[in-house]
Amino acid sequence: MPVPYAKIVSGVPAMTPFVGPETIERRLGATFRLRLGANESSFGISPKAKAVLAAELDRVSWYCDPEHVDLRARLAADLGVGIDNLVVGEGIDGLLGLIVRAFTDPGEAIVTSAGAYPTFNYHVLGYGGRLEFVPYTQDCRNDLEALVEATRRSAAKLLYLANPDNPSGTFLGRAEVEAALDRLPEDCLFVLDEAYAEFAPPEELPPIDAADTRLIRLRTFSKAHGMAGLRLGYAIAAEDVIATFQKIRLHFGVGRLSQVAALASLDDPDFAANVVRQVAEGRADYEALARDHDLAFIPSLTNFVAIDLESAENSLRMVELLEERGVFVRRPGVAPLDRFVRVSVGTPEERAGFAEAFSDALGALRDG
Ligand SMILES: *Cc1c(COP(=O)(O)O)cnc(C)c1O
Repeated sequence: MPVPYAKIVSGVPAMTPFVGPETIERRLGATFRLRLGANESSFGISPKAKAVLAAELDRVSWYCDPEHVDLRARLAADLGVGIDNLVVGEGIDGLLGLIVRAFTDPGEAIVTSAGAYPTFNYHVLGYGGRLEFVPYTQDCRNDLEALVEATRRSAAKLLYLANPDNPSGTFLGRAEVEAALDRLPEDCLFVLDEAYAEFAPPEELPPIDAADTRLIRLRTFSKAHGMAGLRLGYAIAAEDVIATFQKIRLHFGVGRLSQVAALASLDDPDFAANVVRQVAEGRADYEALARDHDLAFIPSLTNFVAIDLESAENSLRMVELLEERGVFVRRPGVAPLDRFVRVSVGTPEERAGFAEAFSDALGALRDG
C-alpha cells in the first residue's frame, strides 16, 4: 500500500531554499573560517539585549506570552499603528508561510521575480500554489511593471517583492512601489518583504498605512538587530488580515528569549543605527575590492554586495575556490544574477580576510 499522504503534500517537489553552511561543512569535512554567505550580522547584538537575555535564562522553563503583547505594543507605538495591525512570528520566513497559507488555494498563481528570495517559493510549493516568475531586468532590479502585469494576466492573489532586494541588493524607491500598488488588481495583495528596511533611506519607504487591506509589510530582527538565531519577525497589515493570521498561526512558535531580546533591542535604537553605518562602510570596502580587480558590482542597500564574475561558470567556480580557502559565500542561481557572488559585510578584520582570499581565488580563476 502506498503511504497515504495528503494530495497537496505528495505533489510537493523536494526543495531546500537554502543549503546551510553547516551542511557544506559536513560535506567538505572542514569548518569555514569566514562565514559570509548567509547575510548574518557580524556586529553582535545590543548590550541591553544581552543583559536581558542573561537574566531571562532563569525563566527558560516558561512558555512565551503567546500573544506577544509587550513586543507588539512597543512596535505599535514605534510604527504608529494599532496592536491589532501586528502579528509576530518565527522570522519573516515563518510569516511568509502564514501569508501563503492564508491567501492561496491549490493551483492558484502567485507572482515573484525569478531568482528572488527562495523561502517564499518554498511555501508556495508547500501549500500547492503555482509560481509565476518574472525575470529581473538586465541591471538586476525587480521589474515592477512586468510583475504587476503578470499578476493581472495570471489573476494572482499575491505579489511578492523584497525591497531592498535579496539576493541583488537593489532598491526601488517609494514612488515606484506606490505606483505598482496603485496598478495592482483590487483582489491582489502586495507582500512587501522589508527585511532590510533599516538599511534604506527612511523617506524612501512608503509610509505605513495600516488601513490598506492590499498591503502586508514584513520586518525582522535578523539583520540590523543581529538576531537571526532567535527567529523573530513581524508583519504589519490591516486588522482583518492580521485577525486571519491569528486564526492559523503557531501560538508558541516564538520563544520567550526572542521576545525579551527584541524588546530590549528596540530600547537601544543607537545600536541598530550604528550597525547600519558600519555596514555601509563595509559595502564601500567590497566595492573598492571589486574595482581593484576591474570587476563590476551591484550597488546595494543591504548588508551584502554582489560582485560580478562575468559568467555563471566563473561565479560557480569562485564559490568553490573560496570554499577551498575556508570562506563561505553564496551565488544566486538564476540569470541575470547567476554571474555574481554575494558576500555579506563582515567586521573590518573579516573584510580584510575576504579581500585576501578573494584576490587569491581570482588569480586562480584567471589562470584557469
Ligand atoms: C534575511 C531575509 C529574510 C529572512 O528573515 P528572517 O526573519 O530571519 O526569517 C527574509 N526575506 C529577506 C528578503 C531577507 O533578506
